[in-house]
Amino acid sequence: MLYPLDYVAEPANLASFRQEIRAFLNAELAGMPTEQKARSWMGSDIEFSKKLAKKGWLGLTIPKSHGGTDQDFFTRFVLSEELLASGAPVAAHWIADRQSAPLIMRYGTPEQQAFYVPRICQAEAFFCIGMSEPNSGSDLASIRTNAQPNEGGWLLNGSKIWTTYAHQCHYMIALVRTSGESADRHTGLSQIIVDLKLPGVTIKPIVDMSGDAHFTEVFFDNVQLAPEALIGSEGQGWEQCTAELAFERSGPERIYSSMALLNAWVDEVRAAGVDDDETLALLGDLLGEMSALRGLSLAVTQRLVDGHSPAVEASVVKDYGTDFEQRLIRCISEWLGARPHFPVSGGLLRALAYLEQMGVTFSLRGGTREILRGIIARGLALR
Ligand SMILES: Cc1cc2nc3c(=O)[nH]c(=O)nc-3n(C[C@H](O)[C@H](O)[C@H](O)COP(=O)(O)OP(=O)(O)OC[C@H]3O[C@@H](n4cnc5c(N)ncnc54)[C@H](O)[C@@H]3O)c2cc1C
Repeated sequence: MLYPLDYVAEPANLASFRQEIRAFLNAELAGMPTEQKARSWMGSDIEFSKKLAKKGWLGLTIPKSHGGTDQDFFTRFVLSEELLASGAPVAAHWIADRQSAPLIMRYGTPEQQAFYVPRICQAEAFFCIGMSEPNSGSDLASIRTNAQPNEGGWLLNGSKIWTTYAHQCHYMIALVRTSGESADRHTGLSQIIVDLKLPGVTIKPIVDMSGDAHFTEVFFDNVQLAPEALIGSEGQGWEQCTAELAFERSGPERIYSSMALLNAWVDEVRAAGVDDDETLALLGDLLGEMSALRGLSLAVTQRLVDGHSPAVEASVVKDYGTDFEQRLIRCISEWLGARPHFPVSGGLLRALAYLEQMGVTFSLRGGTREILRGIIARGLALR
């Protein structure tokens, strides 16, 4: 098995933590089929998330006062890397831990922080991201779902689409229009927390090309929300959302989505004693690129540690990282295609088949390639 960190230096103080995680994962995931590991951070197992919470590995960067362990982003980076490298089924808690808890800690009221964040750290509150809508994906500012102020708080109407695991989540943080009209673009947008059990919420799973049903359509029909559903300030939703996307786009999950395939391929190449120049060159090429990407992702982590919202840098990581994840699938597919007599296992072939179907979405989810490149171009003052 390959571990990303075997090829670059790591901070010494995190080495023992990394070994502890590895030992835990080796025991927990023993015997898990390769094609299941290939689901990577789209694989979901609520009991596994609860076990991580028991270890104190959710909310790693959250203050102890709110149920976390008050560590830095680098410690969390190491944990994320190990989870991704091993193909652990982390989807249930991933979004809440990655972006909802930090968002609530940054913009929420003390009451919201006290109510939601400890439950996130215990794997008792899972969150989904309610940004995209039918006809408003890349052009997110044109969303039409709206929350009108009323006597009870906010009356929510509209719909969201492609919402990952809404059917397993307790809450959605939704970007909605709270004043003005679609044409007002960034003005008048706010973020609200929606309890997905409320009357008027309907969730319909969507089956993807590989047969999995991880994302959903979510409909809101006169959903009455309390005044405290608003998170942050009314009308500041766009700025808050942009800050949230930096967490979403910069992490190691934008590099390692195809790691289960790489690991399985390397294991089988080794077992078969293949060491021709072409194979070694391909392996060196992939690992070299992965190490460079890891350096970029760590650099963005440093910016987050320093309290910045590195939207442009995060877009570079996501664009380059997802390109790598997709190239890896093509390279291994071509390598196997050129060697029809290689004794490949069924598990590796099923992982490859899954990733060949799913890999196209890597550069769509979290913002498409064209949109990211537009952000990068603006950051470089090219447009
Ligand atoms: C697996 C998966 C999980 C997802 N999970 C979530 C989730 O949990 N929550 C959520 O809110 N959303 C989620 N999404 C939705 C995702 O964010 C959108 O699919 C994405 O933002 C693109 O929007 P769209 O599908 O409407 O495509 P469109 O915006 O219609 O884009 C279609 C094509 O046109 C290109 N394009 C659009 N505008 C421009 C432009 N101005 N310049 C150049 N090219 C342009 C795009 O790059 C793309 O290639 C998920 C998507 C996937 C695939």
